[in-house]
Amino acid sequence: PSSYANMKDRADRATTEQVLDPRTRTILLKMVGRGLIDEVNGCVSTGKEANVYHALTPEKAHLALKIYKTSILVFKDRDKYVSGEHRFRRGYSRHNPRKMVRLWAEKEMRNLKRLRAAGLHAPEPFEVRENVLVMSFLGSPEGWASPRLKDAELPADAAAPLYEELLLGVRTLFHRCRLVHADLSEYNILYHEDHLYIIDVSQSVEHDHPSAFDFLRNDLKNVEEFFARRGVRCLGLRRAFEFVTRDQLPAVELLIQEAPPAIDPPPSSPPPTDAQPPADVPPPETDLHALSVLRAWLAEPADEADARDDGQEDAVFLRAHIPRSLNEVFDPERDAAALARGRIGAWCMPMRWGWCRVRPPRTSLLKPNPAKAKAVCGSEGEGVVQ
Ligand code: ADP
Ligand code: MG
Repeated sequence: PSSYANMKDRADRATTEQVLDPRTRTILLKMVGRGLIDEVNGCVSTGKEANVYHALTPEKAHLALKIYKTSILVFKDRDKYVSGEHRFRRGYSRHNPRKMVRLWAEKEMRNLKRLRAAGLHAPEPFEVRENVLVMSFLGSPEGWASPRLKDAELPADAAAPLYEELLLGVRTLFHRCRLVHADLSEYNILYHEDHLYIIDVSQSVEHDHPSAFDFLRNDLKNVEEFFARRGVRCLGLRRAFEFVTRDQLPAVELLIQEAPPAIDPPPSSPPPTDAQPPADVPPPETDLHALSVLRAWLAEPADEADARDDGQEDAVFLRAHIPRSLNEVFDPERDAAALARGRIGAWCMPMRWGWCRVRPPRTSLLKPNPAKAKAVCGSEGEGVVQ
């Protein structure tokens, strides 16, 4: 064999050995023993942190196995997702790679369940055993994996509706799953059966994670840029951010007709009740409502949208750290360091209905004092933008 083949052979072996260490092999063998899987074959993807394999059940149904690598080096740059994450407060040991990786795999399983429970398109997780996650396989009946959004050949008229679907999905993710994906891009979305499936949610964070807004902004930046490149009319980063995070979307005329009622209405309609909901509780938002708002915003005249979202403004928005709470506004060490590096010029506080710019305090004012933070935000804010 040529020296290249030799090298490749060795590299393949190294990869396999790194992932399929004896303990992982034992886990797979036990799955075979229990009749969950019958054979593991092609490797769908080799990544930095995990490999994904195609497997078959004894009934020849397709499965995907995500097998996390257990090398300690691989997960060391994940700290930013962990700090501030209450699900990781206990039991996160960065010195025990197997334990650490097990937590990531379990977290991906739980997050996938949340996505599925909210009706989002995502693989169905079946079980997790240490570093092995078993989930439904997104692919063709012949076993070809569905393409990533990045590689998908979308029909010409499909991109715009898929953009809408994705933004609604990110809003659902934020409000109903209470998660921010934190690595969302065309690489972690599969185009499967005409829909976008969100995958790779092991690093997703709770929506109240201290950096949740930073992650979300980055996620939306990827989404906006991808679809803009495909010629789709997009909201612009800030408007997209508002669409996803705003608690209540404004009332708009429903632009889309409700789907016609099913011919056989399901028999399990809730029993009639006399109790009226209290007057001040808004009715629950429907997807139809959110979609109507999205379409109304997309239909705004281009010059208005341009004025609001010109590139420079977006660039400022992109660089500003968005604090998640008032307590976080004053983190003297971080803020002083960032100021010194010239990283931040303004703090942006998301307020109930818009954005409030807060002038950076003088260094001498940098004390971790939330009461003071409140006072400064109230009195020195440069006014509500928009
Ligand atoms: P990584 O951490 O390596 O990025 P991902 O979860 O993104 O892991 O998976 C890597 C690749 O494996 C994906 O880009 C996709 O091509 C493939 N893949 C992941 N999950 C599935 C699945 N359930 N069905 C089919 N392919 C999948
Ligand atoms: Mg990925």
